[in-house]
Amino acid sequence: MSDAGPKLHPQTLSIHPEDRITPGWTAVPVPVARASTVLFPDLASIRAMNWRDDTKWRYGLHATPTSMALMQRLAALEGGKHALLHPSGLSSITNVYLAFVRPGDDILVPDNAYGPNRELADWYATDFGVSVRYYDPMIGEKIDDLLQDNTRLIWIEAPGSVTMEVPDVGAIARVARARGVLSAIDSTYAAGLSFRPLEHGVDIVVQALTKYQSGGSDVMMGATITSNEDIHCELKRARMRFGIGVSSDDCSLVLRSLPSMQVRYDAHDRSALALAHWLKTRPEVDVVLHPALPDCPGHASFKRDFTGAGGLFSVVFKPAYTSAQVDAFVEGLRLFKLGYSWGGALSLALPYDIRPMRTATHWPHDGVLVRFFVGLEDERDLHADIEQSLLAHLPSTS
Ligand SMILES: *Cc1c(COP(=O)(O)O)cnc(C)c1O
Repeated sequence: MSDAGPKLHPQTLSIHPEDRITPGWTAVPVPVARASTVLFPDLASIRAMNWRDDTKWRYGLHATPTSMALMQRLAALEGGKHALLHPSGLSSITNVYLAFVRPGDDILVPDNAYGPNRELADWYATDFGVSVRYYDPMIGEKIDDLLQDNTRLIWIEAPGSVTMEVPDVGAIARVARARGVLSAIDSTYAAGLSFRPLEHGVDIVVQALTKYQSGGSDVMMGATITSNEDIHCELKRARMRFGIGVSSDDCSLVLRSLPSMQVRYDAHDRSALALAHWLKTRPEVDVVLHPALPDCPGHASFKRDFTGAGGLFSVVFKPAYTSAQVDAFVEGLRLFKLGYSWGGALSLALPYDIRPMRTATHWPHDGVLVRFFVGLEDERDLHADIEQSLLAHLPSTS
C-alpha cells in the first residue's frame, strides 16, 4: 500500500495493515502462514506463474511458506527431491491412484498391504475397470513373472504394518524399473529414518505423517516423495484437480515435532525390541513378529536394508488360546490402550484375525495375533503391564 491517499477508516485499517510481511524476521520456528489468497505485485507476475514450479506460491490450497518448508524438509529426510502433502496418509495413497491408474491398467498390491489401500484397490477393480492382483510380499525378483503388458503400478509395503514381513524392496524396484512399471512404497514404518526406498530404486515413497512425524496423535497428514520431476508433476496435477490441500497450522505442528523424531524413534525402538525379546521367552507366545528378530519373514532383508525398527511389532499367541481369551488379555492391559494409528507417546495394542485379510498367500499361524505399538512410557512399566495381563487372562496350557 502506498503512503499517499485518503485517510482510511478504522474498519478499512483493520484489513489493510501497513506491515504485511516482516522483512528481517528471523527465528527458529517456521512462521504459520495461513492463506487462501496470495497477493502478486503485478499482472505480469501472475501471468508468469507455472504450476510446475515448486519455488513459487499462487494459492493457499497448493502451497504456503509453511507447507513448503515441511515439504522441503521431508524430501531432504527421504533423500528425495520433491514432496507433496495431503490431509491424511491414506489420501497420499489415494493420490498415487488418481495420478496414475486408469481403466484397463493392471496393478500389483502386496498381500500385507495397509487395509484401506486394499479396500481402495478393490474398489478400483469392481467399479473402475482396473485389474488388481495381490502378490506374496516375499516374492522378490520373481515379481517379474507377474508383470503384464498393462501392468502400471506395483505397491510395496516394508514391513507390513500388522504382519511385519519385510520384502526385498531393491529386488522388486529393480524389476519394476527394468520393465517400465511404476513402483510406490508405503514407508510409514521407516519414516525416512531407518530406510530410504528411493535409494533402492523405488519411484514414489508414501508416508503417513500422522504417525512418527506428528508424534503427538493430534495431526492427520500424509506425503508423497519422489526424485523424479515428471512423476512429481503428475502427482501434483492430480492433487490440484481434486482440490487437495493441507493447512499451515497442521504443517507447523509437524514441523515442531520433526526435530525430535529420530530421538523418539530410537526410544520406541529400544523399548519395543526389549519387550519383543522378552515376549519370545514367554510360554503364552507362539511367535514374535519383529523384523529385527530371526523368526520374522524377511529378517535378512531387514538386516541388510534397515538401520532401526521403531515401536511396532506383533505377537502370535499359542493356538490353544481362544480369541475371547486374547481379547481379555488385550482389554486387561492398563497402559496399552485400544485404538488405531500409532507413532505417538502412548502405547497401543489390538488383536487381528489375519486369514480373512489375505488372498494371495496362506497365513501360517493358527493363534491370534496382537499388534503392539510401544510408546514412550518407561519400558519397565510396560513390561509389568503386559505381564500382569498375561497372568490374569492366559492361563498356563501345559
Ligand atoms: C496409518 C497408516 C496409513 C494411513 O495414514 P492416515 O494418516 O491414518 O490416513 C497408511 N499406511 C500405513 C502403513 C499406516 O500405518
